[in-house]
Amino acid sequence: MSASAARPLRLHLNEHTGGCSPAVLAAIRAIAREDIARYPDYAPVTSASERHFGVDAGWITLTNGLDEGLHAAAYAVARTNRRLAGARPPIALVVEPAFEMYAACADAAGLDVRRVLPGDDPAFPVEAFFAALSPDVRLIYLTDPNNPTGLAMPPGLLDRICAAAPWALVMLDEAYAEYSGRTAIGPALDRRRNLIVGRTFAKAFGLAGLRVGAIVAHPETLAPLRRVLPPFPLNICAVRALEAAVEDRAYLEWSIAQAGESRGLVAGACRRLGLHCWPSEANFVLVRIGDEVGRVVEEMAAAGVLVRDRSQQPGCAGCCRITAGVVDHTRRAIAALEDALRSSRRPHRA
Ligand SMILES: *Cc1c(COP(=O)(O)O)cnc(C)c1O
Repeated sequence: MSASAARPLRLHLNEHTGGCSPAVLAAIRAIAREDIARYPDYAPVTSASERHFGVDAGWITLTNGLDEGLHAAAYAVARTNRRLAGARPPIALVVEPAFEMYAACADAAGLDVRRVLPGDDPAFPVEAFFAALSPDVRLIYLTDPNNPTGLAMPPGLLDRICAAAPWALVMLDEAYAEYSGRTAIGPALDRRRNLIVGRTFAKAFGLAGLRVGAIVAHPETLAPLRRVLPPFPLNICAVRALEAAVEDRAYLEWSIAQAGESRGLVAGACRRLGLHCWPSEANFVLVRIGDEVGRVVEEMAAAGVLVRDRSQQPGCAGCCRITAGVVDHTRRAIAALEDALRSSRRPHRA
């Protein structure tokens, strides 16, 4: 086995392959034995997070990764709607192609999942979405920018959705908002009382292994989610890490700039190679390889570069998703992609 295959480049989960800020590690190293023996105090880190997102006190709840926030939304909706008229459970709407956790969370909480399907292209299926919006839809998962496409939500759509379904909780997943530079967190959040914004420190801040996320909304909107969350979702390492991470603006800006350059490199490579890709606003790019996608992904893995086969997701036939964060790593991915394509395009392959 080659060295690169033994320790592959992980470009399949949109992790930060540059690691976290060095300040985060220093903060964890500074934790005292007594700190570890105590239940964590969330007051300082919550204030730091409120400052970071520019919201008032009470508008944030920290969670054990954004995944926990996605779960809490489903449990809160199931709990609030348990006496819904009729025998059927409330419905969670998932707009495909989507992050798999939405359907998993809804299912865990006993909600029915209704998937809104795109056409051949994975763009947001606006018409199908509104057609699916019946009164028994009580939870709507949205993503901006989308994973796996990296596409922005169509402008103005969020407001239309929040207004069209006041009986539903809208959970807007902004896992990649640092890269897009766009967020629904702001003064308008006060008007949208059925909207919760989910954020994570896993991607642009590189804290995936520590599990740190946040849900942001009007305090009354957050209240039902707080009821289903455990009292101490973050451990002390995550708390100290988050405090340090939000202070290191330079590291965040470096991460965002690297992703911007990387997306450009992948898009340029796709043009050269005659492959279609979608204009991403995140730290990854969805690339349409075609029928050979399975082979190409396998060959790249054999060469030590892991990327994600997304060809089974609706609207994503023949596609793989490549994390495009740290520029050096993106260059390696492009070289591996070119090699894999060259061998798969050879006329006399086995
Ligand atoms: C990575 C990701 C998450 C998960 O965030 P965690 O904080 O690691 O739980 C949530 N939503 C989307 C769309 C993601 O890509």
